[in-house]
Amino acid sequence: MSNQKTLNHDEVGTKFYRDVLSFFDFASQFTKHPQGLLEQIKVPNSTYEMRFPIRTDDGNYQVIQAWRVQHSQHKLPVKGGIRFAESVSADEVKALATLMTFKCALVNVPFGGAKGGVKINPKNHSERQLEAITRRYTTELVKKDFIGPSIDVPAPDYGTGAREMSWIVDTYSLLRPGINALGCVTGKPLSQHGIRGRTEATGRGVFFAVREAVNIPEDMKKLGLTAGMKDKKVIVQGFGNVGYHAALYCQEAGAIIVGIGECEGSLYDENGLDVAEVLKHRRETGSILNFKNAKNVSPANSILEYECDILIPAALENQITIENAPRIKAKIIGEGANGPVTSGAEQILLEGGKLILPDFYANAGGVTVSYLEWLKNLSRVSFGKIQRRYTENENLLMIQAIENATGVRVGEDLRQMLSKGPDERDLVNSALEEVMIKGYQDIRETYMQTPKTGSLRTAAFVSAIDKIAIAYLDAGIFP
Ligand code: NAD
Repeated sequence: MSNQKTLNHDEVGTKFYRDVLSFFDFASQFTKHPQGLLEQIKVPNSTYEMRFPIRTDDGNYQVIQAWRVQHSQHKLPVKGGIRFAESVSADEVKALATLMTFKCALVNVPFGGAKGGVKINPKNHSERQLEAITRRYTTELVKKDFIGPSIDVPAPDYGTGAREMSWIVDTYSLLRPGINALGCVTGKPLSQHGIRGRTEATGRGVFFAVREAVNIPEDMKKLGLTAGMKDKKVIVQGFGNVGYHAALYCQEAGAIIVGIGECEGSLYDENGLDVAEVLKHRRETGSILNFKNAKNVSPANSILEYECDILIPAALENQITIENAPRIKAKIIGEGANGPVTSGAEQILLEGGKLILPDFYANAGGVTVSYLEWLKNLSRVSFGKIQRRYTENENLLMIQAIENATGVRVGEDLRQMLSKGPDERDLVNSALEEVMIKGYQDIRETYMQTPKTGSLRTAAFVSAIDKIAIAYLDAGIFP
């Protein structure tokens, strides 16, 4: 039985931020940078805390509390999602903004880190109110120069999506019209100059991260697993944007999704859950529970402790704590969410021989594709538009030359496959895959060179800190 005190939202945020800082401090000792520079890299540069009123549907007023934290401007613009949740607090947003800086550095996306949060439960507001809140929040950011294509570029996070981003771009463009205004936010709908592949990018990136780890036979041998995704048992907590897509791509690669956790309860089926069918069932019934032959699991978060090879927490922070860490059976934890494993829990998991793929690497797919969306908005041309047909014609000529030389005619299906020029989605997915593969190689190499780091998280921090320090030093800010 747990003797841990249940923390309120502010306390969870503060613990999360303290954990991020302690991960940073621990990693710093493996770098050789001056203390003052490390301090500059660690602390958030600017925090804007705001309060504004909205009219409720019964004619009353409600005061909304919100934040935007710009953690590091060593590269501009700064970038990070906007969270709509009741649990949002100043420290939570600082923790998330800090992670954004290290995420961008780690995967070589040339942005500084930032994050926004609005303390509301979106389920308690009508669409009209959510639009009013989003537009007012954007107006506050515009007034203080906390948003703009070369200043600070938000994106979706927990509780927000393409709809909110389209309200943001519309409000921004009205207040600051200009040729680059579309680049003020990413994760927009396609009709508002979003990019193909952004919606699924974070979950897809989580899958690539897990796949990279699982494909290294000697690492898997140490965990008592075979290499490859096929037949790996996976549990995903949080069936939203990140969790759903991570589960979907793991399933497509041959893994068996044995468990899915949500707020209303969790599902377990050792024979595997059909991810798309569970989503359909949730849309129809309002809950994931009572799905076909699956077992309903209660309390919801006990699903984290069920038998599986790979656990993907993709809901919120502070899910695996010192209380439940000793009971986690998964051998690999792929952090889809930010901060799902506390620092104390990480110690317990590492001592138990588990492999943890840290959040700011594993969920970097979202910001990677957001970067491509921002480039597309600034260049005003979609990826693939210029070269797709040219490549296709070139490939056809090559196929014809081979056919003439060999006297063998290629079948129609193969001809189409071989000749296809890449469209926007192909290029986005290929860039995402490349970034996630390189990111894993980078972290693993740092870890192998400095085994005393003791974890992929510390190795990832070391790698990111080095890159940020070089950016500061090369800029001559610390002469
Ligand atoms: P989302 O709002 O689309 O989905 C989150 C889901 O988690 C919701 O369905 C919610 O009901 C569920 N949930 C909340 N608490 C839960 C709990 N205790 N147990 C089980 N389920 C719970 O949010 P998202 O965009 O998928 O974000 C999830 C996490 O991923 C967050 O930590 C976020 O910061 C991180 N992240 C998101 C993105 C992105 O592009 N959306 C990028 C990087 C990181």
